[in-house]
This record gives sequence, C-alpha cells and structure tokens, in this order.
Amino acid sequence: MKGTILTDGPCEIGCRASKSPLSGMQKPGRAAQGSRSTDRSGKNQRLRLGKICPTMNEFELIAQYFTRPARAGGAVRLGVGDDCAMLDVPPGETLAISTDMLVEGRHFFEGTDPEALGHKALAVNLSDLAAMGAAPLGFSLALALPAVDPGWLEGFARGLLALADAHGAQLIGGDTTRGPLNICITVYGSLPPQSALRRDGAHAGDEIWVSGTLGDARLGLEALQGKRLLDRALLRPASARLHRPEPRVGLGLALRRIAHAAIDVSDGLMGDLAHILERSRVGAVVDADALPCGEALSAQDEALRRAFALNGGDDYELCFTAAPRDASAVQAAAQAAGVRVTRIGTIVDGAGLQIIDADGQALDIAAQSFDHFSG
Ligand code: ADP
Ligand code: MG
Repeated sequence: MKGTILTDGPCEIGCRASKSPLSGMQKPGRAAQGSRSTDRSGKNQRLRLGKICPTMNEFELIAQYFTRPARAGGAVRLGVGDDCAMLDVPPGETLAISTDMLVEGRHFFEGTDPEALGHKALAVNLSDLAAMGAAPLGFSLALALPAVDPGWLEGFARGLLALADAHGAQLIGGDTTRGPLNICITVYGSLPPQSALRRDGAHAGDEIWVSGTLGDARLGLEALQGKRLLDRALLRPASARLHRPEPRVGLGLALRRIAHAAIDVSDGLMGDLAHILERSRVGAVVDADALPCGEALSAQDEALRRAFALNGGDDYELCFTAAPRDASAVQAAAQAAGVRVTRIGTIVDGAGLQIIDADGQALDIAAQSFDHFSG
C-alpha cells in the first residue's frame, strides 16, 4: 500500500483518532475481551467474544463472511476452501499481480467505517490493475483481526464484495488470524503482455494526461485530522474521495494500445509521475494550473490548489502518457469509460519534472511524496 498516510512523519499508531470526527464510529476490536484456545498446529483457534457474540472459529468466520457460491463461466476454477485457488488466464494473456496492505493507525483511522474500509482495501488494489491496463480476475484477502466483531465483519464484507462484484473480481482465498487490524489484499488480473501500460514506456513528445480530479482526498484527510477547517458541504465530497476511491479499471482497459505509460496516483502526482520519468529515462513539464482539482479543493486558494493537486496523495486517478496524434483516441477511451481526462503537460528529453504556471513561468515546487521509512 503506497498512498494513504495519517501523519507526515514517522508512524503514530492511533494518532489523533480520538479527535477525528470518525472516532464516534464503531471500533473494531472493542469486543476483544475473551481468550482463545489453540490446537497444536495453531489452527482452528476459537476467537472467544465473551457475551457479545457466540464463539466462532476461523473456518466459521471464513464461511460466513468470505465465502460465496462460485460463479460459473468466470476465471476462477476453484475458489475459497481448498489449499490453493485455481485461476484460468484467458489464452494468450498473462497474469498481472499486485499486493497492497492497509494497517490501522497507519493507513486509516481507528474506528473507520468498516464498509468504507472494505471498499477502499480492494479499491487501492484494483487501482494498480487499472494502471497496468489489466482486467481483474480475482483477489485474495489476508486479514488480521483483534477479535471477531460480527457487525464490523458484516460491514467490511459488504463494502469489499460490492466493489468486487462491480468489477467482476471474485474473492478466491486468503488467510485469517488474530492480531492488530491489518488488511492485505492481492489482486490477480490478466492482459495481453504487449498491451501492458508499463511505467517505462513514455517517449519525449508524449502528452501527459490525468483522469478525474486531484487533491480532495488530502483535503478531506486534513479536515478529519482537524488540521484544516472545511464547510460541511465540502467535507462530504472530500471525505468521500478519501474513503471511497473509485479505481479506474475501465479507463485502464480502454487505454490499452493507446497510452504509452501509466501509473496510478497514490502518493501524489509529482512523486508518481517521477516514477514514469525515471523508468522511461525522460523529463516532463507540467502546468500546475491545468490540473483538475476536486470539488472541495476548487474552493480553496491558489497555493493550496496547486500544492494538493501536485502532492496530495490518495487520489487513485490514472496518470498516463500518449502520443499527441492519439489525443482524440484518449478522449474517446475516457468517454467510453465514463471518466473525464485532462491534458496536463508534456514529456521531454532529459530528466526531471518542471512545474510551470498558466503563463509558462517556472514554479519552485518540490515533490513531497510520502515515504513510510524516511524522516
Ligand atoms: P491453509 O491452512 O491451507 O492455509 P486456511 O485454514 O488458512 O488454509 O484457510 C482455509 C481456506 O479458507 C483456504 O481456502 C483459504 O484460502 C481460505 N481463506 C482463509 N482466510 C480467508 C479470507 N480472509 N478470505 C477468503 N478466504 C480465506
Ligand atoms: Mg492459511
């Protein structure tokens, strides 16, 4: 997991959560008062819940919340319940795999709405498939839970599986254990290898595009952290962007054979575009004033608009490059996928990312991508 951060510095588990407006929500793990018994293999642990819920072991939990009837005709030959799942990859295609982890206190507030969390845990993973131009096949879920809390599990599974259904991705297996709340998803997709939207495919002369809008997730995060005041009318769209990102899977598929390079914007546009530039050995010029700001960010002053559009993070939009002659094909792909796209700059020979304003004047703005181990 790259994008979501709750702090600007080293990890502060549980930080500020009690002050956040989310703190009144249901907290996973409240029910963790019981004990567990273990057999010698360490399996079949009973997660006892005192008076809150009847005992439920690991397998009952998996059966109740994470097992659904197999869908006929899909890529999944064998799903949850055996030692391995089995996936069929369409003939001529190759498997695309990505893993992202969400840790409580690190990537989301303690007490975050479980349905939103289920959605987001899968959304950030599907976003990586989108950025590769891969079609989702299935995903696995490794889950550490402090306790079995049926209300939490129901909400989490609802958010997770609704997004899975929307993208035709089946839950095919996973692992479940007791521990501090931690959600790790691996997604499996497929694509013809030659049409992968890799980071190393950008050429000098390409136009740089971004989907949707930028910056509202960061604005929502800072408002929820109490760092910034936001009108109620703007807090709603901003926190929706933070908690319920929409992976641009359809756009990624539509950009196959059109885009030269792509990445999903999880750490902030500047930092993520820099990965394309490094891998493609090119430079870029980006117009800060051409960046599409989110609804809430659009109402802020120019300095904040530029800062959060360039370095906000958690946007889960696609940034991609394409030849200028393919601009109308890009627009048609975006229209087919129902997503807006905006041209924001150009790939140039050389190295590095230059930010300019609408008059073409250079702006002195540094990338501030989050690095979990720096500082
Ligand atoms: P094993 O001991 O072979 O690793 P487990 O006991 O961990 O198997 O899991 C039993 C079955 O349930 C496996 O098919 C596994 O993929 C699946 N499973 C475990 N946890 C989850 C989960 N959180 N979501 C979906 N499937 C799960
Ligand atoms: Mg296991």
